[in-house]
Amino acid sequence: MRKIKHQSIIEWSVQIVMILCFISVFVYVFMTRVRWQEPSEFDHTVIVVDSGWRAYTVDSSGTASEMTGVKFPCTIDVKKTDTAVLERSVPAYVSDTDWLALRFKNCNIKIYVEDELRGSYTKVNTSIYRTSQPSRYVYADLDDTDAGKTVRLEMTVLNDGEVKLSQACVGQKIGIFRHYLDNQKWSFLCVVVFSVLGIALVIAGTCIRIGVGNIVHLDYLGWTLAFVALWDMTQSDFRDFLFNNITAISIVPTMSLSLFVIPFALYINDVQKHRYSKLNYIFCSVSLAHFVVMVFMHIFKIVDMYDTIWLVFVINYLYLIILMYTFYRDRKSGCGAYYKIVRIGVYIMAALGIVQIVSFLGLYPDNTGLPMCLGYGIMTIFCFVYEVRVLIQVEMDRKTAHRVADMKSEFLATMSHEIRTPINAILGMNEMILRESGDGKVLGYASDVDSAGTMLLSLINDILDFSKIESGKMEIVPTDYSLSTLLINLYNLMHKRADDKGLELEFNVAHYVPSVLNGDELRVQQILINIITNAIKYTASGSVTVNVSCEEVEGICILKFDVEDTGVGIRKKDIDKLFGSFTRVDYDKNKTIEGTGLGLAITKELLTLMNGSIKVESVYGVGSVFHITIPQVVVDKNPVGTIDFVDTVTSAKQTGIEFESEGSCILIVDDVSLNLKVAAGLLKDTKIDIDVCESGKDCLLMCRKKKYDVILLDHMMPGMDGIETLHRLRDDATCMNRDSVVIMLTANAIQGVKEEYIQEGFNDYLSKPFTRDQMVETLGRYIANTLA
Ligand code: ADP
Repeated sequence: MRKIKHQSIIEWSVQIVMILCFISVFVYVFMTRVRWQEPSEFDHTVIVVDSGWRAYTVDSSGTASEMTGVKFPCTIDVKKTDTAVLERSVPAYVSDTDWLALRFKNCNIKIYVEDELRGSYTKVNTSIYRTSQPSRYVYADLDDTDAGKTVRLEMTVLNDGEVKLSQACVGQKIGIFRHYLDNQKWSFLCVVVFSVLGIALVIAGTCIRIGVGNIVHLDYLGWTLAFVALWDMTQSDFRDFLFNNITAISIVPTMSLSLFVIPFALYINDVQKHRYSKLNYIFCSVSLAHFVVMVFMHIFKIVDMYDTIWLVFVINYLYLIILMYTFYRDRKSGCGAYYKIVRIGVYIMAALGIVQIVSFLGLYPDNTGLPMCLGYGIMTIFCFVYEVRVLIQVEMDRKTAHRVADMKSEFLATMSHEIRTPINAILGMNEMILRESGDGKVLGYASDVDSAGTMLLSLINDILDFSKIESGKMEIVPTDYSLSTLLINLYNLMHKRADDKGLELEFNVAHYVPSVLNGDELRVQQILINIITNAIKYTASGSVTVNVSCEEVEGICILKFDVEDTGVGIRKKDIDKLFGSFTRVDYDKNKTIEGTGLGLAITKELLTLMNGSIKVESVYGVGSVFHITIPQVVVDKNPVGTIDFVDTVTSAKQTGIEFESEGSCILIVDDVSLNLKVAAGLLKDTKIDIDVCESGKDCLLMCRKKKYDVILLDHMMPGMDGIETLHRLRDDATCMNRDSVVIMLTANAIQGVKEEYIQEGFNDYLSKPFTRDQMVETLGRYIANTLA
C-alpha cells in the first residue's frame, strides 16, 4: 500500500511539474503574441522621445541655468529650492488616444502642454510606505491638436538629490505597455515561469515529503524560485502595469532578496546531508533576524528598507562565500562528488549574480533582473536534474529492496514448505503411536516428540508471518464474526496449557460487548493466542485472567483485552525492548522457557495494521498486564451476554472425534510416500475405503476407473502439480470424478492461499501437518459420519 502510494506520488509530482511548465510557457506565448497583436484597431506603435529635450533649472529667485546634452536615461542634480525643467515639442503625429509616458525616480513631477497641466505625480500620498521615491511611470494625456506644441516637465525635490529620468515615449497605453514589455520580455518570461514553476515545485516537494519522506527537497528549491520571481516581478519596469501602489511595492524586492536565501540555504543543507548544518542554520537565523529588524525599522521610519538593500547583498554574498568554503571542503574530503551538478549550478548563479550587481551599479546598461533570473533558472535546472537523479536512485533502491524482500519471502515460504512436509510425517506417525501404543514409556517419548514438533511448527508459522510483515505483504482480511465463538475457541485452545501448569485461566467478558463484529478474526485470535500463551508461559503459579470490554466511538467498537498474569513480571527497563524482533528479555530467568522473541513483534505489527495498540504494565516478580485495543466495526449491536466457557475440547482431544464412514471412498494423492502412509494411517479406524497414488498422472488414470467421494490432492508434485491435475480432471467430460469433491492437501500454509486454491476450483483446503481430528472434520463436511 505504502509502496503504491510512494510510486504514484512521484509520478504525479513529475506530471504536475511538467504540466505547469507547459502552461507557463503557453501563457507567455499567448499573452505576448496573441492578445496584444489583435484586435487590429489598437495601434502599437510608439514614438520614443528620449532625446531632443531642452533642460534647465530655475532657482528660487527665478534665474534659469541651462544644461546641455540631456538625453534619457539621465540623472539631474536638483536642489530642494530649485525646479528642474525639461522641454521639447510634441511629435508631429499624435492622436486623441495617445499619451506621453515618462519613467522617473526621486521627484515630484508636473507635465504641461503649453501651460495646461496634463499629468502629475506627487509622492505625498504614498509616503507612508517609503521615504524615497522609486522609479515609476507618469502619464500625460495628449490630443491631436498638441502636435508641435511644447511639452514641459517640471520636477521638484524635497531634499537636494539626484532625479533620474529613464524613458519617455508617446503612444496609446496598450502600445506603451507593449513597448516596455518587449524591452523586458525575458525578465517577464522569467517571472511567469519562475512563479508557476516555484509553486509547482513547492507542491510537488511537499507531496513527496509527506508521502515518501525527506528524500528530495524540491519544496525548498520552489520557495527560492518563487522569491526570485517575486523579486523580479516587483523590481522590473512592468510592475507599473501590475500594481497600483508602486511606492509600497518597491520595498518587496528588498524583502524577497532578504528571504530567498533562507530556503536556498536549507536546500543546500539537505543536499550536503547536514554536514554543515550549524553554518547553514546560523546563516538562516542571521538572515531572518536581519529581515525582522529591517521591517521593524522601516515601519517605525528609522531606516527606509530600500536603502538597506546593499546590506542584503552583503549578507547574501557572505553566504555565497560560506557556500564556496563548504564546496571546497567537500571536494577536498572527497564526499562532494554526488552533488557536483548542484555545485556547477551554484557557480553559474554566483557569476550571473555578480553581473546583476554590476548592472545595478550602472556599469552595465540594463535595468532588468535578467542576469540574476537567468542564474537562478540555470541553477534550478541543475538542481532539478540532481533531484530527479536522487528520485531515480531511490526508486531503483526501492525496487531492489522489493526484489530482495520478495526473494526472501519466497525463500522462507519454500523453506517452510520443505520443513512442514517432514514435520507432517513426524507428527502424523507420532499421533499414530500416541493412539495405538499401550506402553507408558513409549507414550511419554511420543508426547515429547509431539510438543517439540508443535513448537517447531509454531516457530515456522512465526517466521513466515514475520517475513510477510517485513516485506509489507501482510494483509488484514475483514469478515463478520461472532465474538463469543472467537472467545470460546480461544478458551478451548488455551485451557489445556494452563491446566497442565496448574494455572487458573479465567475469562471475564463484559456482558454489553456487541455480539457480531467485522474484522480479521484470525489475526485477532492470533494476537490473543500470543499474549495468553506468553502469560501462561511466564507464569509458574497463580492465574491468568483475560478481561474483555469495549468502548464505542462513532460506530466503531474499540475492543479492549487486558491479559493479566501472576508471573515473573518484566523489569521497567526491559518494557521498551519487548516488541523488537527476536528479542527475549531477562534471559537468565527465562532461558528454560521455549521462545524465539518473535511473538510480541508480530503482535505489535498486526495491531498496527489494524489500528490497534498494546501497552504493558508490570511489576517485576509479581506479574504483568498486557492492555490491547482493537477497533472493530459493529455488525450486530446485541450484547454477547453471559458466555459459558466450558472445556469442550479437552474431552474431545482425549478421545478424538468419533468418525466412521463405511462405504465412502477417497483417493489421496501425494508424491511423498511417507505422507500417504501418515494420511492413510490416521484414517485407518474410519472404515473409509482409501486409495493412494504418487502423481497427478496416476490420479487422473485412477479417477477414470473408480468413483471417489473425496480426492485429497497435494499441490507441489513433480511433473503435473495439484492445480494442473485438478484442471484436467474438471475439464475431462468423460471422467466419472469430474464433479467429485477435491481437497487441497498442502504444506503451503501462507495466509490467503486457501482463497486462491478455492478460486482455482478446489472445494476445500487442509494444511500440513494435520491431525487426525482436522482430517476427519474436513472430510465430515463432504461424507456422512455413520456414527453420528
Ligand atoms: P518469546 O517467544 O520469547 O515468548 P515474545 O516476543 O512473545 O517472545 O516475548 C518477548 C519477551 O517478552 C519474552 O522473551 C519474555 O521475556 C517477555 N514476556 C512476554 N510476555 C511476558 C509475560 N506475560 N510475563 C513476563 N515476560 C514476558
